[in-house]
Amino acid sequence: MKKILSIGLIAVIVACSGVEEPLVQDQECFSSGDRTIKWTMVTTWPKNFPGLGMGPENFAKYVDEMTCGRMKIKVYGAGEFVPALGVFDAVSQGNVQLGHGASYYWTGKVKSSQFFTAVPFGLTAQEMNGWLNYGGGMELWEEAYAPFNLIPLAGGNSGVQMAGWFKKEINSLDDLKGLKMRIPGLAGEVFTRAGAETVTLPGNEIFLSLQQGVVDAAEWVGPYNDLTFGFHQVSDFYYYPGWHEPGSTLEFIINKDAYQTLPDDLKAIIKYAAKSANQEMLDEYTARNNKALTELIDKHNVDLRKLPDSVLRELKKITEEVMKDFIADDPMAQKVYKSYSEFKEQVINYHRISEKAYIDTRELD
Ligand code: CA
Repeated sequence: MKKILSIGLIAVIVACSGVEEPLVQDQECFSSGDRTIKWTMVTTWPKNFPGLGMGPENFAKYVDEMTCGRMKIKVYGAGEFVPALGVFDAVSQGNVQLGHGASYYWTGKVKSSQFFTAVPFGLTAQEMNGWLNYGGGMELWEEAYAPFNLIPLAGGNSGVQMAGWFKKEINSLDDLKGLKMRIPGLAGEVFTRAGAETVTLPGNEIFLSLQQGVVDAAEWVGPYNDLTFGFHQVSDFYYYPGWHEPGSTLEFIINKDAYQTLPDDLKAIIKYAAKSANQEMLDEYTARNNKALTELIDKHNVDLRKLPDSVLRELKKITEEVMKDFIADDPMAQKVYKSYSEFKEQVINYHRISEKAYIDTRELD
């Protein structure tokens, strides 16, 4: 039996490197080398959806490659195994081992989860990664999810999003009154206070809702993703900037009991596969958003508009009130907000004279 096992392990090494080398046995890492670990991942996105849906696909691919096929992850799109908004519970309860989505979908269960995706007028993608990895954010995220038997990992980033698709022009705050809009999370609350009616819908329900007039406006992500869903066919105006989601971090969630059954090397591989997938998604958006935007404008005659500064200023004011009320009765949300705000204050200070000053400089005639 032992002999068969070591032949199997050597075969795996040969398959991966193409070079036959004696296997250096490490009990901790290779203790499960005689079997393939098969895990299931459920997601809040349609299967293989560009950008967002590639996070889980890339992750599964990296894990497969790094483990030489010792660990296989089968990825299910929204609704294939559980509904989009059933991902958190499915992983928490251990029905599946892994999930991919956005933490702010779970604000109703874990208030502080809002901060780990995006906050209106908050951190950009680069700043989010700084806060999570070097500013204490990741530790707080782990603390917030611990009661649910979940381990979170950053799972991609959209970069600055678009303000969204509107069927009518937005020239003043009054234009938001009575507007029915798909906009989740805190931004939804900001729009509600501005007089709009807001709803949270998974991505795959937005097109039909716009088409049938269930909503008059909807935000999703940005040109690359929005073009795929075809929102330009059912709304006229495409507004920027994405004040409400300036750098949305996505998430991988792992069932803690399942995670603890893994040997140390697989635990590490999962962590670094997530890190790679996190960066990879931002790279894809960075490379592809403008091409999609050009297509929307040139081919589909989309009317690109900037939200007036007066409207943005009002939304910023309302956001500050919403934030205060949002954290008022939740000590964990207060703790996370404090960490987030302190990090934001110091990072903005330098980014004002670096990122912003440089981008302004690049625009000079
Ligand atoms: Ca969005």
